Amino acid sequence: MLFFAVSPMNILPKVQIVYKKQFPKTFANDVAGWGFSKEELIANKGKVLSLDIDFGNYCSLNCPHCFRRNNKVDFGKHKLMGYKDIVALIEDAKKLGLKSVKFLGAGEPFENKRFLEFLRFLKKSKITPLIFTKGHVIGDDELVKKYYSDYGISTGRQLVKELKKLGAGILLGFNSFDTEIQDKMVGGVKGYSLKRNRALELLAEAGFNKPNPTRLALIATPLTKSNYKGAFDIYKWARQRNLYTIICPTMVSGRCAKEWAWHKITPSRKKLVDLYARIYKFNIEKGIQSLKQIKEEGISPYAGATPCHQIACGMYVTLTGTVLRCPGDDVTVFGSVWKEPLEQIWKKSENCKRAGTFNCGCPPKAGKSIPENFYSEVMKKLEKT
Ligand code: SF4
Ligand code: SF4
Repeated sequence: MLFFAVSPMNILPKVQIVYKKQFPKTFANDVAGWGFSKEELIANKGKVLSLDIDFGNYCSLNCPHCFRRNNKVDFGKHKLMGYKDIVALIEDAKKLGLKSVKFLGAGEPFENKRFLEFLRFLKKSKITPLIFTKGHVIGDDELVKKYYSDYGISTGRQLVKELKKLGAGILLGFNSFDTEIQDKMVGGVKGYSLKRNRALELLAEAGFNKPNPTRLALIATPLTKSNYKGAFDIYKWARQRNLYTIICPTMVSGRCAKEWAWHKITPSRKKLVDLYARIYKFNIEKGIQSLKQIKEEGISPYAGATPCHQIACGMYVTLTGTVLRCPGDDVTVFGSVWKEPLEQIWKKSENCKRAGTFNCGCPPKAGKSIPENFYSEVMKKLEKT
C-alpha cells in the first residue's frame, strides 16, 4: 500500500500494477537498450555501443533547469547538424559497433516533423532508439496532428502504436504527481501535467511497460527542493508498474552551470543521502537488487538504477557537431565531427580508455552535483537499516 502526501493537486495516471509484491528473480533493472551487462561491455570492449545525440532544437516548454539552454557548447555561432549529417553520423557510429541512440535534445524531439522518418531509418539500421521526452505531444492529439499528419497519424494512440512498431524506448519526464509543481517545473505551462499523464497512460496501454527489461522509464530528474517530498512516492509507484526510474539532482551545467544556481534548487546533502538509502532499501525488500549486488556494483548516480557506464561505451554529439564526454558535462570536449572522423575522436577519447568498465561512477557530477563521499555515506546508511 502506498501513501502519498495529501495534496488536492496530486493526479495519478491510471497505470496498472505489474509487480504487486516481489519482483521476479529474472527482473532486469534497466530499460531495453540503455545499459549493458558486464559481460556485454567486456565482449564489446572498445566499441561505441551507444550515442547520445541531439535532434533539432525546438521546444515549446521552458524548464527553469533546462540543461540544453545556456549550455556552454551552444554559445556563439556554430554550423548545426542537419538531417543528413545526423544520418551520416549514425552510419559512421554503426561501423564502430553502435547498438542504441538516446535522444537528449536540444529541444523536444517529438516537436520535429522529421522525427518519425529518422526513427524509421534507425529501425532499418537495427539501432534501438531511446527517447527523452516530456510527453506533451504524445498526450495531445492536436499536437500529434500538427507534427505527424503527413505520416497519416493524427492521435496519440496511433503515434504510440507506431513507436512500438519502431522498437522505441520512452524516457518520460516525470517530476511530480502534483500538477501545480509539475506545470511550474516545465516553465509554468498550465495543463502540461495532464497531457504527460495521458501520454503515460497511452504508452502503458500499448504495453511499453510489459516486457522485461521494460521499454518505459520515468525521468524524475532534476531532484529539487520543490519535488523532493514526492520523489520516493514516485519511485515506488513507478517501479511497481515496471517503469524504470531515474532520480538524481540536477547537473552543474546549462541553466545550473553556476554553483549558486545549483545550490539554490538542490535538497541538502542529508536529504539526498536519506532518499538514496530509502530507494536502495526498497530495491532490496522487493528483490530488485540484493545488498551483495549493490556492494559489488556500487551505488549509482541514478538512485536505485543500473550504474552508469555511458562514459566507457559512448559519447554525446550535440547539434553543433561537438563531441562531449557525456550529457552531464558541457566542458570536456573530445572534438568536432566537422573536423575529424568520429572514429578518430573516439579512439583518442578518455571514454575509449575506460572501455569495458561497468560502473564508471560519474566524474561530471563527482564533488559537484553528487557531493564527495556521497556513495559511501549512502552505503553506510543502507547497511545500518
Ligand atoms: S523540455 Fe527539455 S529542451 Fe525543453 S525546456 Fe525542458 S529541459 Fe529544455
Ligand atoms: S557519467 Fe554521470 S552525467 Fe554522465 S551520463 Fe553517466 S550519470 Fe550522466
